[in-house]
Amino acid sequence: MGKATGFLDYERIDYKKRAVDERIKDWGEIRIPQTEEEIKIQAARCMSCGIPFCHAGTLLGGATAGCPLHNLIPEWNDLVYKGQWEEAYRRLSRTNPFPEFTGRVCPAPCEGSCTEGYHMEAVTISAIEYEIIEKAFAEGYVKIKKAPATGKKVAIIGSGPAGLSSAHYLNMLGHQVTVYERHDRAGGLLMYGIPNMKLDKSIIERRLSLMQQSGIEFVLNTEVGKDISTAQLLEEYDAVLLCAGATKARGLNVEGKELSGVHFAVDFLSANTKSLLDSQLKDKKFIDVKDKNVIIIGGGDTGTDCAATSLRHGCQSVYQFEIMPEMPQTRQSATNPWPEWPKKLKVDYGQQEAIAVAGSDPRQYLISTKKIVGDAQGNVKEVHTVKIGWVKDEQGRMIPKKIPGSEKVWKADIVLLAMGFLGPEDTVPVELSLERDARSNVKTPLNRFQTSADKVFAAGDMRRGQSLVVWAIQEGKLAAAEVHEFLLGKLCTL
Ligand SMILES: Cc1cc2nc3c(=O)[nH]c(=O)nc-3n(C[C@H](O)[C@H](O)[C@H](O)COP(=O)(O)OP(=O)(O)OC[C@H]3O[C@@H](n4cnc5c(N)ncnc54)[C@H](O)[C@@H]3O)c2cc1C
Ligand code: SF4
Repeated sequence: MGKATGFLDYERIDYKKRAVDERIKDWGEIRIPQTEEEIKIQAARCMSCGIPFCHAGTLLGGATAGCPLHNLIPEWNDLVYKGQWEEAYRRLSRTNPFPEFTGRVCPAPCEGSCTEGYHMEAVTISAIEYEIIEKAFAEGYVKIKKAPATGKKVAIIGSGPAGLSSAHYLNMLGHQVTVYERHDRAGGLLMYGIPNMKLDKSIIERRLSLMQQSGIEFVLNTEVGKDISTAQLLEEYDAVLLCAGATKARGLNVEGKELSGVHFAVDFLSANTKSLLDSQLKDKKFIDVKDKNVIIIGGGDTGTDCAATSLRHGCQSVYQFEIMPEMPQTRQSATNPWPEWPKKLKVDYGQQEAIAVAGSDPRQYLISTKKIVGDAQGNVKEVHTVKIGWVKDEQGRMIPKKIPGSEKVWKADIVLLAMGFLGPEDTVPVELSLERDARSNVKTPLNRFQTSADKVFAAGDMRRGQSLVVWAIQEGKLAAAEVHEFLLGKLCTL
């Protein structure tokens, strides 16, 4: 433990973000990195708890509590406080292959469970992680070590965080790894979901280039099940690992859903990033919402990304509809005690930007969309809504009940559907006749990754359902260990 009284001496200080009026004019990351001295002081706040709940990594009350990667947080906090950055990087990379991703996009369940958060404010674990890995890249500490070649070949389908994580570990263990990706760039939702202002795409390219140099092959623009069959992969490889995500988006079943101007959020976000990377948006191959009235259906993080992207286009107005009530300002300890993830109102970067531009939070709560109305040309013109309350039915289940007289008509040119995902696409699971679970995810035994097909494994959102980057990385890691065991009959600890 670095400084015994650090938690009493210093307050939590978060990193600052670039001013809204400046940052909404570009697509750069919004974070202003902290200085080395500031980070050392923040690390000194860690109490090096006997039971560090920050690295527990479990599900409590239906949400993630602690770090799913079991990061050795108190150890690297101590090393950072002492200025031993290289050793801190070694402890961090012992459990996390991609801290540059999690340090930017992870909602930090570790901080939600930090003991310090019980009475005061949690340690800034995520910001410390970010600084360790950025310093490690700057100082040249990041190197990939490999075991001697085993002669075994593994195909991974999908290059999101789960696919990248398993590729990293299988390659490290000496296997020959090929990653198949249908898009023109690798990274999955890191690349074509999460916007550039949260995760600059050069950060993904930096990692991909290291992975390629270490021998991992990426086969892009190749959809398994269309451009190459799973049968061919099974013939050519000793094992096949499915990391194709849960990309089937949830639609809105109302009148007008087929009108021009209604899009899935991921299509809006991915086209924007692709056009940005290909041509700085000059090729116009994106859904432009400049001067448009945008309604986003879904009050979660994907909706927030859509709001921030719309504001950068220069939209006329933006609203985010949420069917659930507004979260409380503080944790409700009676029903949501520490160390559970604190369920409280978050004003994220997209909402902060909307508040600065339009004067109010774009989120509208307890609202249900009844229909979308178009003009004579079939373009979206209006969204009709009604307010709802949540009541118990005869079986005691909570159901939405319309509030009479609360109907409202919203002017709209674009409607973005950000209501989550239903599960994996069917092509590969059907081709392999895989067993699925009740949510249509690829089924494996509890905490295992072998599917119902011989030498086929699954990890990430495709197995778990739509989740978090950190869980995808952990699934990729554990699946790699299981594939290794299958290939060589030897256990390994990753
Ligand atoms: C808009 C958005 C924002 C998000 N923001 C965050 C965030 O800030 N923080 C966070 O922790 N989580 C976030 N998430 C969730 C997170 O991105 C996912 O949980 C995570 O990416 C899942 O990783 P994965 O590798 O399992 O799948 P994915 O990232 O979905 O990757 C699957 C890959 O497989 C490819 N693929 C699919 N089928 C085939 C095929 N047949 N052949 C070849 N390739 C195929 C896809 O093209 C894709 O590249 C966000 C999700 C969305 C949609
Ligand atoms: S729970 Fe918080 S204070 Fe305790 S070891 Fe983890 S980061 Fe440090």
